[in-house]
Amino acid sequence: MIYDQARYGRNGEYEPLLSEKDSTTVDVGGEDSALPDGLTRDSLTLPALSEPELARHYTRLSQMNWGVESGPYPLGSCTMKYNPKFTEDVAADTNAAVHPDRSERSVQGTLEVLYGLQDYLARIGGMDAVTLQPPAGAAGEFAGILVAKAYHEARGADRTEVIIPSSAHGTNFASAAMAGYDVVELPSDEDGRVDLDALRAAVGEDTAALMLTNPNTVGLFERDIVEIAEAVHDAGGLLYYDGANLNALLGRARPGDMGFDIMHYNVHKTFATPHGGGGPGAGPVGVVEELAEFLPSPRVRETTHGPGTEPEYELFDPERTVGKVHGFQGNWLVLVKAYAYIARLGDEGLADASAKAVLNANYLGSQIDYEIPYGPFHHEFAATAGDQDAADVAKRMLDYGVHPPTTKWPAFVPEAMLTEPTEIENRETLDDLATAFNAAAAEDDETLANAPERTTARRIDQTSAARNPRLSWHALDGD
Ligand SMILES: *Cc1c(COP(=O)(O)O)cnc(C)c1O
Repeated sequence: MIYDQARYGRNGEYEPLLSEKDSTTVDVGGEDSALPDGLTRDSLTLPALSEPELARHYTRLSQMNWGVESGPYPLGSCTMKYNPKFTEDVAADTNAAVHPDRSERSVQGTLEVLYGLQDYLARIGGMDAVTLQPPAGAAGEFAGILVAKAYHEARGADRTEVIIPSSAHGTNFASAAMAGYDVVELPSDEDGRVDLDALRAAVGEDTAALMLTNPNTVGLFERDIVEIAEAVHDAGGLLYYDGANLNALLGRARPGDMGFDIMHYNVHKTFATPHGGGGPGAGPVGVVEELAEFLPSPRVRETTHGPGTEPEYELFDPERTVGKVHGFQGNWLVLVKAYAYIARLGDEGLADASAKAVLNANYLGSQIDYEIPYGPFHHEFAATAGDQDAADVAKRMLDYGVHPPTTKWPAFVPEAMLTEPTEIENRETLDDLATAFNAAAAEDDETLANAPERTTARRIDQTSAARNPRLSWHALDGD
């Protein structure tokens, strides 16, 4: 704790001495605030530390953490890929710092970028219209299912069910349930794909939508996607694409061409904007023409004032919009990074990214001693730890200086280790990952159960850390 390190006089090197104590209390004038008294303070107690002590304290804290800039981060499904610095530069440009409440006339550049991103995403996904509003993939799912619901209601249809494969991401079930639907779970067939017969038996006049990702959560392409789309459409339902695995298809195949009607894009997984810590993210939603009028508002459109004039941009509310799902136009600084990334890579760069994502997963898969029950896989694979505990293997991998894969999900792969190296890693780094996997594979249960040995914290109580977090150092004193 920084307060424990404080000593009288330590702040004296570059600043005048603040007080004669190990910490000093400064007046921050809370009494003048417009906020309620209970939410403000009049003074703040600062620890006495020299500048190098302070710099080392925060650097040490940062080294206790792991990020994609520390090393490989092959967390399957989550797609933890590196965010190029040029996208940060674009977002940090002072011209990007516009207040969202400014008049449309004065933010034509901002609107042009948003319009351009709507267009890029529509073309990438094979969709006709896109909203940039939702602030995450899960929020995109929820908005997309609300669009499906509005569509059915507008046609006077009372459809009550959303079908979701049992291997789907937990957010799919939650989004459908939050939108008021009963969830029908679809088992996988023995090859790990959608069971077409089970699907045909499940769809009917109650079906509002089928939610699917392709490739699916073990990286397999749903080869029957055309038949799947037909079965859902024949029953009057809609096909929803969970875009979290778009990295495998980028620039090569489009959900819209496969028959999907609605999709979300996880810009923080596919288009290199920051990921994690609960946000900030963005989960734009694309739809086919028939559903465009229901999209969340506002969207951006191009207008012209007669021939020969420059195009202008304006916000508009789709005719039968489901309403707002976020403030203003969405998470602007995240969206501008996605725009910059797509613009810089272009068609060729995007197709190259998906090729490398698939190549890297397949190379890594070929180098590890664990069995991979389902294939051929694309950008990620689910290895099984067999007789070992996948969570123990993951802890042991930390000792070898890499981040482990996602473990114990999806559930139909026993002791699953869902691994997605992403396109950013070179061969040497993939070899380091394979070394970590293979070292753990050769170890006995006791070694695994005692791992990690070389990290700052050993086995932490993950459940308590999530459910009862101590967010203040006061809590350590039982205060
Ligand atoms: C990450 C993920 C989601 C949810 O996306 P968020 O942006 O994290 O809310 C949905 N489906 C799948 C398959 C995912 O991997």
